[in-house]
Amino acid sequence: MVHQDERCFDLVVVGAGSGGLAAAKRAASHGASVAIVEGGRVGGTCVIRGCVPKKLLVYGSAVGEQLADGPSYGWPVPPVAPQTHVLLDHVRREVDRLNGIHEAALNRAGVVLVRGWGRFLDAQRLLVGEQVLRGETILIAVGGQPVRPHLPGAELALVSDDLFLLERFPSSMVIIGGGYIACEFACILRGLGVAVTQIVRRQLLRGFDRGCVASVEAGMMEKGLVVRKGVSPQAISSTTTGRRVELSDGSTVEAEAVLLATGRTPRLDGLNLAAAGVAVAGPRIPVDGDQRTNVAHIFAVGDVTDRINLTPVAVDEGRAFADSRFGQTPRHTDHSLVASAVFTQPELATVGLSEEAARQRHGDQVRVCEARFRSLSRALPKTGSPCHLKLVLGLQERVLGCHMVGEHSAEIIQMAAIALGMGATKADFDRTMALHPSISEEFVTMG
Ligand code: NDP
Repeated sequence: MVHQDERCFDLVVVGAGSGGLAAAKRAASHGASVAIVEGGRVGGTCVIRGCVPKKLLVYGSAVGEQLADGPSYGWPVPPVAPQTHVLLDHVRREVDRLNGIHEAALNRAGVVLVRGWGRFLDAQRLLVGEQVLRGETILIAVGGQPVRPHLPGAELALVSDDLFLLERFPSSMVIIGGGYIACEFACILRGLGVAVTQIVRRQLLRGFDRGCVASVEAGMMEKGLVVRKGVSPQAISSTTTGRRVELSDGSTVEAEAVLLATGRTPRLDGLNLAAAGVAVAGPRIPVDGDQRTNVAHIFAVGDVTDRINLTPVAVDEGRAFADSRFGQTPRHTDHSLVASAVFTQPELATVGLSEEAARQRHGDQVRVCEARFRSLSRALPKTGSPCHLKLVLGLQERVLGCHMVGEHSAEIIQMAAIALGMGATKADFDRTMALHPSISEEFVTMG
């Protein structure tokens, strides 16, 4: 039954982040009538409080090292302190610009933007503010949000979303966590002169190649970061100058502020999935290869499905869903061989298996080639951590994993991912003439 005030669409997308935007625009290009529901700002985590503003902060924090290198290259730059209020203000302005671009792109694509948080009334209808939207097909693309662990005083800490809203960065920070967000912000803040202590209960960057992580860690230490491993936070409290964190070994650490970077979880609160009969598994929505939930006309993409929580994966899932459902080109997203980068300083990028994962799967067939060296750009300053390049080889010397720590590693591994996707062997790498002098030439010359 159609409610009197209902607006009906072929597709209603809930969430205007990377996955939702990609799906909505692609479905509209196939001729579908599409509405997209967003309670926050169009662009989602990646554009508003994630990848993009974070990368701008990475660039901003790296300027300090470039200035410090100045004298060795004949630029006698006197020591200067960063103005983090200026950096944060400029980053926010760029985010505003991108937000506008994404809204305009929706408009151009003919997608109706409905502002507000969506709540399922039943399997076909969503309530958004006062409006009722009916979708023949519904796509859930609501993304994720930071987890605040159950810890006395956890509300006194910042989460990554908050960092982009600060007036200026504090002079000191305790960062809890050893994952992507903790490590990236530890390096950003350190580069901007903040005294950082990172609290890591197990390992830094769990799941990445351990040898490469050791190289990242060495580089982080060289920049003056304090990393305390094997301790967990027990409680957070206020002091007259900031915050105190009690640790599991009985010690305490103090700073002007604390950042909780303890993971992210799908943002399901308020959706009322039960009314639509959509099943959840723990905090996530399980889907099949078509991105379909247990309800035939309800689909989900991106972080809400909690598989590989990266922007390009969500975008591809969204487009594959739209092409399959509304176009004439059904396809599935390929979740194998997804390259990723951690924008620490030094940067870590990787595609394929770590040495540990390869040995677990392929045992003695695995051979490793690696090279550690100081890049030419560091020859005059005589400071900076070495680059670390690593190939993990399997049967018949097929390249199973390609890892890099150092300058431009994300840019370089992006191209290596093409070779790995094509099944390249070490011989294919070796046959490629080196481009000299470059960092990545070592990938085609190392034994
Ligand atoms: P991660 O899951 O990568 O790391 C969470 C960290 O917090 C781990 O070190 C974990 O320890 C630790 N932790 C969890 N709970 C506690 C606790 N109670 N006390 C102490 N430590 C705790 O999450 P992030 O928040 O860093 O990132 C979330 C996701 O966002 C990533 O998985 C990634 O998909 C995405 N992302 C990607 C980026 C990129 O591509 N460059 C950048 C930023 C985010 P333990 O390992 O012991 O469990």
